[in-house]
Amino acid sequence: MAAAARTYLDYNASAPLLDDARNAMLDVLNRHGNASSVHGEGRQMRKAIETARAQVGKFVGVAAKQVIFTSGATEAAVHALSPILRAGEHEIKIGCLYISAIEHACVLSGGRFAAGNAVPIPVTSGGAIDLDALDHLLGNHDHELGPPMVAIMLANNETGVIQPVREAAGIADKYGAYLVVDAVQAGGKIPISMPELRAHFLILSGHKLGGPQGTGALILADPSIYPAPLLLGGGQENHHRGGTENTAGIAGFGAACRWHMDNEGGLAKIRAMRDVLEAGIRQVSLELGNKVPQPVIFGESENRICNTSCFALAGIKAETALISLDLDGIAVSSGAACSSGKVKHSHVLAAMGIEDDLIAGALRISFGWQSRDADVERFLAAWKKLVKKRS
Ligand code: PLP
Repeated sequence: MAAAARTYLDYNASAPLLDDARNAMLDVLNRHGNASSVHGEGRQMRKAIETARAQVGKFVGVAAKQVIFTSGATEAAVHALSPILRAGEHEIKIGCLYISAIEHACVLSGGRFAAGNAVPIPVTSGGAIDLDALDHLLGNHDHELGPPMVAIMLANNETGVIQPVREAAGIADKYGAYLVVDAVQAGGKIPISMPELRAHFLILSGHKLGGPQGTGALILADPSIYPAPLLLGGGQENHHRGGTENTAGIAGFGAACRWHMDNEGGLAKIRAMRDVLEAGIRQVSLELGNKVPQPVIFGESENRICNTSCFALAGIKAETALISLDLDGIAVSSGAACSSGKVKHSHVLAAMGIEDDLIAGALRISFGWQSRDADVERFLAAWKKLVKKRS
């Protein structure tokens, strides 16, 4: 089937490149020069980077100088999760890392902390971080070891559940903890204000919001407090990250952020499509009679980002559904995308206390700016066919 005829409902895995991002990248790719060079060619490249830095900063409500460009959110997470922070001449040794149980693997791995040293923060059955548990964990933190660091996400990539980051920031503040917030899946789906979130470090990824793959940022709340650099080299990114910049990628990432600031109005339409899809899968079960159970929509009781629906229908395996939908020209995902291409058991749903059988059937549908009502109709027709076969 030709690519154009397909229905892409996997924006949370990677979103299609926005035209504005493509144009900004082409503009850079058609030039040459190193942004560190003093000649005109180099200065043009520097200008592209600094324009993007201002765009990304504005996108999350901070100044350009707070933005460090990276090769993606994974690098930004490993950079941020450092047992050593620097504050001017001083070093701050972090005593212990606390990570919510539903983080993306790049945060869950604990970055540069010794393996197995991170303490998990449990979540509720609705998929939101358990604030009482966080308070309890930090209340028992041994401050002799150094201040704690807490890592939580703003929106979960599988369920779309928006996390109570502001409340968590209040708790972190009470215990003198440094707060790292992965805002990757929130970008372009809810407005992000880093000052309001009161995060010390914020993580973004370009390709989840219509910028190019292989771009991202680590954003500092206070430029004088920063993690020890991960990549040493030629002093780029204000000595935070050595290496010649990915100028075209950075320009595309900045342009994507600007596009979202100009197009927030499109989110209501995306939410409406998600809601029609969820009503539709319930209707399919009703129409097929009492042999077919109702789908379970994970995180439904919580506040969710507008584009994401994660659900399972007992008796339908995610692997079977993915293949069948793909043959019908529809790209969706099972819970989290896995690098091996295999469907893996979701640690997010497991942390929410969902039974294994349902986890094995979890599908994630994620919409975006190119999604149309016809995509929902096509999905529902294919879903009905699939559920009918099961019944
Ligand atoms: N954090 C979240 C919540 C994600 O969903 C992802 C990608 O799926 C990442 C981090 C990693 O992003 P990147 O692909 O830019 O390394």
